[in-house]
Amino acid sequence: MSYKAVNPFNGKTIREFADATDAEVEQALKKANAFYHAAKKQPVSERTAQLERLAHEFTAHNEKYARLLTTNMGKLIGQARSEVKKNVEFAMYYVKNGAQILQPIPYNNIPDKNAHVEFSSIGTIMSVEPWNFPYTQIMRVFAPNFIIGNPVILKHASIVPECAQAFEEACIAAKIPEGAFKNLFVNYEQVNHIIADPRVQGVALTGSEGAGRKIAAEAGKNLKKSTMELGGTDVCVVLDDADLENAIEGAAAARLNNSGQVCTAAKRYIVQSEIYDDFLAGIIDEFSKRKLGDPLDEHTTLGPLSSKSAQENLHQQVKKILAGGAKVLWGDPELPQGPGALFNPLIISGMTLDNPMYDTELFGPVAQIYKADTEEDIIKIANHSNYGLGGAVYSKDIAHAKALASHIETGQVAINQPLTSYPELPFGGVKNSGYGRELSDMGIREFVNAKTILN
Ligand code: NDP
Repeated sequence: MSYKAVNPFNGKTIREFADATDAEVEQALKKANAFYHAAKKQPVSERTAQLERLAHEFTAHNEKYARLLTTNMGKLIGQARSEVKKNVEFAMYYVKNGAQILQPIPYNNIPDKNAHVEFSSIGTIMSVEPWNFPYTQIMRVFAPNFIIGNPVILKHASIVPECAQAFEEACIAAKIPEGAFKNLFVNYEQVNHIIADPRVQGVALTGSEGAGRKIAAEAGKNLKKSTMELGGTDVCVVLDDADLENAIEGAAAARLNNSGQVCTAAKRYIVQSEIYDDFLAGIIDEFSKRKLGDPLDEHTTLGPLSSKSAQENLHQQVKKILAGGAKVLWGDPELPQGPGALFNPLIISGMTLDNPMYDTELFGPVAQIYKADTEEDIIKIANHSNYGLGGAVYSKDIAHAKALASHIETGQVAINQPLTSYPELPFGGVKNSGYGRELSDMGIREFVNAKTILN
């Protein structure tokens, strides 16, 4: 059994789940296809009401759903409650706006002719999701596709099976029609089989670059459209004229939230020379205030990593970074004792281009800091990455910050605030951070037939 919930704070196994059989996979594909055809005859308003019921289900039982996040992957209980709320916000955005976004678009730009583009469903979507935001990662894909009428089959990360199952149970409680959503405890081979099935017409992945390369290749081989939300090494740029307090608070939150396991976390601080010492003192102060411990304890402010293997992987990465010449400016690089996956926050400097770990995504509370004199240097450091997901710029001169943001090669940049996702805004990256957009009007148009009708 490869799907297993283990509490990462104490290492205790909570529950194991049986692997899906090939017959269950076939059954899920059949039911999904039946939903796809039934939804074609159903008004969007019916699904809108059903999605609203799902949002209410999560609101009504926030604590129940939140605790599973905390026990399966170690999210602080307060942040877990916020994730459940965000899950509701994602659903409600499509409840309120989905049907409107899918209205036909007129194209009356050919003399003596009329045309419009209408949007319709295309088939089942295979969704492969990671453990860092176990519910919202699903909802980003499920909500827009449900509104348009595309069923979703989920392969969730093997370490959060209770969350995957809870999402399916929430759908059942909300009377989401059978076939519209199915969680399967499948292996990689079965995922490939599903991607190849002609009833499946789209593939959505959030995860590592490595998983992206493999799953995108399967999708490409089968000519299936895909969206890839992959990793990042986002920068947090602090200019000399920044509001220091706001920059420190934002930079610390952007690196430490979710124990640093966020694709758009501020993994590299780039700080202009004049403000560097003050920023460093402030960020050390913020990091040292964090209390590492049990994520169910309301007083804990830094939870464990998602698993023992994530802890070991990050520990090895830090060792290689230090062996490659970088230095720990603050923090203890040794692992805390005990059965859990705790990890001490660290601030590292001296990461050079020849360090073998340069441009590796560090998924945990490890910040890298760079001092830069000129904006030319800042842009050079920021863009010297194969990733291109997000970033942030801190400066009191908003126009100046926006101009700098335009030069950062990523899919999104926040000014004077940590980057986060809003259902109203497109989310996604460029370069090895993947392609396609989730959320907003763009997210709902990823897996549609945009059909041109001309008369
Ligand atoms: P992965 O990318 O390996 O896992 C993400 C999802 O993809 C999981 O459901 C996983 O399943 C699945 N998966 C991976 N490979 C395949 C495949 N060949 N076929 C089908 N499904 C596949 O992330 P990890 O959990 O292993 O984390 C490793 C690193 O990835 C992290 O340290 C971090 O750097 C990065 N990461 C980035 C995320 C982001 O949001 N950008 C999110 C998660 C990880 P299973 O769990 O069964 O392996």
